[in-house]
This record gives sequence, C-alpha cells and structure tokens, in this order.
Amino acid sequence: MAKAITRKDLSYLGEVFLRHVQAIPGGEKIKLCIQCGTCSGSCPTSYAMDYTPREIIAALRAGQLGKVLESNTVWLCASCYYCTVRCPSGIKLTDIMYELKRLGIEYGLYVRGGMTPVLSTTFLDIVDRYGRNFETELLVRLFLRTDPLKLLGTAPLGLRLLRRRRLPLLPERIKGRNDLAKMLQHVREREAA
Ligand code: SF4
Ligand code: SF4
Repeated sequence: MAKAITRKDLSYLGEVFLRHVQAIPGGEKIKLCIQCGTCSGSCPTSYAMDYTPREIIAALRAGQLGKVLESNTVWLCASCYYCTVRCPSGIKLTDIMYELKRLGIEYGLYVRGGMTPVLSTTFLDIVDRYGRNFETELLVRLFLRTDPLKLLGTAPLGLRLLRRRRLPLLPERIKGRNDLAKMLQHVREREAA
C-alpha cells in the first residue's frame, strides 16, 4: 500500500529523480530544452496524454514531480523513440519516461485507476516467483486490483480458455530459478546504490 506523499517527500523524490536522469548518458541535457514542441508534435500518443512530452520536461525542470507522476503521460508512452531522435537538444525523452515509470512504481506514485502500472508490478512479482509469466494469475490479480466487476464479466471467457488449455491452470517454473533470483537481486542492489 502506498503511503501518503507529502510536499517534502516530493521534493526529496525530485532530487532522486534528477540524479537518475543525470546518470543516463546525456541526461544532463534536460537543461537545454528550448520548449520547441518537436517531441510533442512527433509523439503518436500525445493526443491522449494529460501532459505532452514538452510539458513533462517543463514540469520536471520546474520541480513539479507530483504533477508529472500523477498524470497518465508516462504510462501512455509507447517507447517509439521518435521524440528522442528528433529533439534538437539531444534530450533522451524516452529514457526519461522509463526512469519516471521506475520511480512511480518504486514509490507507489502513479495515476489512479491506471491499469499499466498495476500490470507492470504484478507481472514482475510473478516473474520473480516462477521465472516466467503465469497469465491466469496475472489476469485475475490485474482485474481484482483495478476493476473487480470486469473480472466477473470475463469469467465465462476465462473458463472457456482454461478448458481449451489456452490459459494454464498451474504456473510453470523455469530451471535455474534461484540463479535468476540472484541476478534480479544483484540488479536491485545496484539500482539502490
Ligand atoms: S523536442 Fe527537445 S528541445 Fe524541443 S521541447 Fe521537446 S525536449 Fe525540449
Ligand atoms: S517515445 Fe514515448 S513520448 Fe516519445 S514520441 Fe514515442 S510515445 Fe511519445
């Protein structure tokens, strides 16, 4: 359960986030944004975003991390890299969107009711346990956390898929799951450092 975030927390997270961005090769270029809007004009999903990529960069530079994380923008980024290759200041917007997603998941700060962050955290939890995805559990947990009524509506379809073995009844575990767990632990420790 995410704790209530205070203004002080957001200011701390803003500093954490800027350190993450500066760790991306070329990440310090965020200061060079000229607000030309090329990124927003190039973005195939900006029409549905609460804030366009240009507005996200402006908000980050103004220290408005809360506004950024509570928007749907990062979760609608399709990682197409179009903004990144067209930015005249060489700003790596796509990598910044990834950092924002990571930060949002880590601190439980993301758009309320959004399915994508829940899908992402649930998927990672399942891969942690089995070493691979288990679609049946993923779907049930996703609907329970975002829209339990939809679970009831899709139950007949789910049961048909289970009967026809299009969905697995039990999870499969990969060989060497302990090795994978060690690798993931190592990555987490490095990220934390
Ligand atoms: S294209 Fe680059 S310089 Fe232009 S608004 Fe977007 S991030 Fe800023
Ligand atoms: S990488 Fe994301 S933000 Fe950039 S143009 Fe593609 S969808 Fe838009």
